Amino acid sequence: MNQVILQAFEWYLESDQNLWTTLTAQAQQLKVAGIDALWLPPAYKGSSGTSDTGYGVYDNYDLGEFDQKGTVRTKYGTKDEYLMLIQALHAEGILVYADVVLNHKMGADNTDTVMVFQVDDGDRMTLLTPDPFEIEAWTRFDFNGRQQTYSSFQWNKEHFTGTDYDNRTQRKGIFLFEGKKWDGDVDREHVNYDYLMGADIDYTHPQVLEETLNWGRWYITTTQVDGLRLDALKHIQFGFFKKWIAALREQQNLFVVGEYWSDDLRALHNYLNEESYSMSLFDVPLHYNLYRASSSDGNFDLSSIFDGTLVLNNPDYAVTFVDNHDTQPSQSLQSWVEEWFKPAAYALILLRHEGTPCIFYGDYYGIVHDQINPVRELDTLISIRKAKLFGQRYDYLDDPDLIGWTYTGDFEHPGSGFAVILSDKKQGEKRMFVGSENAHSIYRDSMGNINEPVLIDDDGIGIFKVLGGSLSVYEKTEN
Ligand code: CA
Repeated sequence: MNQVILQAFEWYLESDQNLWTTLTAQAQQLKVAGIDALWLPPAYKGSSGTSDTGYGVYDNYDLGEFDQKGTVRTKYGTKDEYLMLIQALHAEGILVYADVVLNHKMGADNTDTVMVFQVDDGDRMTLLTPDPFEIEAWTRFDFNGRQQTYSSFQWNKEHFTGTDYDNRTQRKGIFLFEGKKWDGDVDREHVNYDYLMGADIDYTHPQVLEETLNWGRWYITTTQVDGLRLDALKHIQFGFFKKWIAALREQQNLFVVGEYWSDDLRALHNYLNEESYSMSLFDVPLHYNLYRASSSDGNFDLSSIFDGTLVLNNPDYAVTFVDNHDTQPSQSLQSWVEEWFKPAAYALILLRHEGTPCIFYGDYYGIVHDQINPVRELDTLISIRKAKLFGQRYDYLDDPDLIGWTYTGDFEHPGSGFAVILSDKKQGEKRMFVGSENAHSIYRDSMGNINEPVLIDDDGIGIFKVLGGSLSVYEKTEN
């Protein structure tokens, strides 16, 4: 059975919560709950110091160790606390995946004078200015607080392709450096989506390639993480990561999942091909299907819930998820799966064997910032997955408002198997086959929504009920 990943942070965590030490105290409990791996947020110093989530990456070598950006610790704690957390998780047999942000840098120490062209925001290949002009760009990263510990590399304008701010005129715009080209093979949104934010790193520069590999090796040796979550892939030259990952895998086997934010399955397939299937991708199309199902007043066609998804078409490379730190309320890609549908959404990723499910912190622990409660069904769904997801599956994804599926269970796992039914509209019932070996067994709803038990008939068929807009998961309670 595939691992269950927990994304162990949300956007609005408070810095004084000390995430690293909080999670260290939770390690044993997480193991008991059935969590196999934790995706930790970017652990290096961001440009906004202790209020930076880590995506505004300033110094990849400062894991909360040097006095930079007004603080030694990061938003989540110190380097020592980070390393202790990884040790504590490993002691419980939980794997650790590090968040890797390589597209851009922010919060430079100084400016460079650069000749640039301004480009059109909607079409990055179109120059708005025919002649180059001079700006002051924030592209000098000297890391004086670190004093060349771990690496003597210092970044300057040569290592970047563009930026979005002229310090001299205090003017915003997207500026392409003279003599540079946007990476050619990137996402086609805005015609060329190489530029996302900050100082955009030039992945054709030999010194950048060498430094990025040195950093990757240093990071894995230092932290002993078991895998990586790669940020902002559609903004980085396609083909870069397969070489980088291959080089790191010479050192250590790594699980790698990438964020290619597109709900177009073709774009995901194209990227997997470009990177020679060296990583898995988050199943963004499935997220959007779940989001639409939750926000369509029951008018979403549930029988199409897996249409156009990675988990349907390429399950071995799909990391499925319901929400994340970008889709949560008030964030850049807000598309929050509504609370009433959350248990059903998690059943769709946890109670099927395809794909690697990733649970969001905001669903597991809640989000204080938005008064969002934890999804109380999650622990039960995880434990059913762990103990009972065995045998043959029978799908009943055949109705716009009411779908279900069953696993028969197998003999090596006594009591395994279950039946799932969910609705996005009216209440109803489905006749479902749970295996002839389960004839005459009694099944009960572990979600606590339907009280009456289901008796399986001579042929292994039961009639399973569900309330409107609800989820029921029936487990065998008596033979
Ligand atoms: Ca880029």
